[in-house]
Amino acid sequence: MADADRSRTYDVVIVGGGHNALVAAAYVARAGRSVVVLERLDHVGGAAVSERPWAGVDAHVSRYSYLVSLLPRAIIDDLGLGIRLVRRRYSSYTPDPGDPSSGILVDTADAAATGASFARVTGSTSEADRFAAFSARTAPVARMLFPTTTEPLRRGSELRARLADDRLWADLFENPLGSMLRTALDSDIARGIALTDGLIGTFSYADDPSLRQNRCFLYHVIGGGTGDWDVPVGGMGQVTSELARAAEAAGAELRTGADVVSVSPDGVVELGGEHPGTVHGRLVLAGVGPAVLARLLEAGGAGAAEDVAGARPEGAQVKVNILLRRLPRLRDPHVTPEAAFAGTFHINETMTQLDASHAAASRGDIPDPLPAEVYCHSLTDPTILGAELRASGAQTMTLFGLQVPHRLVDGKDQDVARAALLEAAQRSLDSVLAEPLADCVYEAPDGSACIEARTTADLDASLGMVAGDIFHGPLAWPWAADDEPLDTPAQRWGVATAHPNVLVCGSGARRGGAVSGLGGHNAAMAALELLGG
Ligand SMILES: Cc1cc2nc3c(=O)[nH]c(=O)nc-3n(C[C@H](O)[C@H](O)[C@H](O)COP(=O)(O)OP(=O)(O)OC[C@H]3O[C@@H](n4cnc5c(N)ncnc54)[C@H](O)[C@@H]3O)c2cc1C
Repeated sequence: MADADRSRTYDVVIVGGGHNALVAAAYVARAGRSVVVLERLDHVGGAAVSERPWAGVDAHVSRYSYLVSLLPRAIIDDLGLGIRLVRRRYSSYTPDPGDPSSGILVDTADAAATGASFARVTGSTSEADRFAAFSARTAPVARMLFPTTTEPLRRGSELRARLADDRLWADLFENPLGSMLRTALDSDIARGIALTDGLIGTFSYADDPSLRQNRCFLYHVIGGGTGDWDVPVGGMGQVTSELARAAEAAGAELRTGADVVSVSPDGVVELGGEHPGTVHGRLVLAGVGPAVLARLLEAGGAGAAEDVAGARPEGAQVKVNILLRRLPRLRDPHVTPEAAFAGTFHINETMTQLDASHAAASRGDIPDPLPAEVYCHSLTDPTILGAELRASGAQTMTLFGLQVPHRLVDGKDQDVARAALLEAAQRSLDSVLAEPLADCVYEAPDGSACIEARTTADLDASLGMVAGDIFHGPLAWPWAADDEPLDTPAQRWGVATAHPNVLVCGSGARRGGAVSGLGGHNAAMAALELLGG
């Protein structure tokens, strides 16, 4: 590319090429504005990508994120995305950690079977009804809040008045989640199933006064107005490919191998690495997290960023990708592995275990047993496997381990730390299976086992996700406080920084966490207002 092009001025320059950046680029370009996306890696998508992790094995796995809930239908329709999301019949299976020969299967197509499994495990014929009532209790909040996520921010007081249920508002938004769970549910195991939604990538516990578990829980129950988590057909890479196609078709320029080293508050973006240069933007949108942006702004002369302890990113998970020769056998004779592994399979995630794991990790120990959840994508969508693998009965398995804050691996020998977490994850899973997982793992042509762990340190190194925080920092309530200024378009859309021409457009935007496109959509709306339509 000619140097003249490299120093061009655009209406909008987007730093980082994650899925949110692509959403923003597509909206901005469709409005006839010039826009360039600058991505450091040789591909776009960030944490929303599919890859073939094992050489010579035709399995295309969602390497990081894997389920979709928060991506609004309006964004899919506006951008004409060819994305198919499939609902899972079995929402979850939870073997009893004390006796894995029975477990709770939540089968959305068979209430009687669901009820029977709750009764077997909890000894109560009414716990299934309590569990259903608990889910129904959050439904009005989901229906009210989700449509507002693609609108300018509402005030908290306005939403509270609209909900017209002060008790529910207090339970979800003012008191630690543990109290609501204890009131609504009788069993430790059912309380744990619900509590996991508050601990995804978030280091917290049931009664955490910071309410970070409540915020994480909220984002897990409002998606699509129902809280369902659907399977993206073709894997998460398909979501990104469609977004990239839509952005380019609208005229956006996507540059890979573009490592941004500084951003000035007036829109000068400097590139380093193999393709140095300078790009100017009337506006700069940060698809990178706020912590990365702060570093880039400092390098661009904006002065040192204020370090606010409560806003520091810290991921708290380990992700394990596995290819299986076949599904492992269960100890529970009432459930088939095909049903159990199709939904979210909870391992050692009672409320007591989740809280004990938090305490262990706070002391610096890897929780034992490690609370985790697994799910087999290929049971719902076999297209991610080559024909031969499919015919052989192979299945992909994703394991997401909780309560492993970045501090447990930070500064350690990463090979040792990764191996320790992988071992803990396997041991935990084995504790509820009828045979060791290792006996079912597929072998690559070079003889190695098809299993890989991605720690928070791996995410930091490969994706620039600071401290492996999958949401780029602590999640925020999806509304504005009553005294918060909403004077500028960036403030109204929840994407403001301290600099008027620099906006947040990634997961770190007010409502941006997860694969939702919300950060990108809302930054694009603010940018178009600022640019004059
Ligand atoms: C293991 C894991 C599992 C998850 N599971 C789910 C799930 O199932 N469902 C869900 O909804 N969410 C899930 N998430 C969260 C979700 O994936 C993220 O919140 C989301 O993908 C973030 O998207 P983004 O576009 O905001 O940023 P990112 O995906 O973080 O993209 C940022 C991009 O910026 C680039 N970059 C960084 N620094 C620079 C620089 N200096 N110059 C240029 N480019 C730079 C990076 O390479 C990256 O491509 C998961 C995340 C992880 C890590």
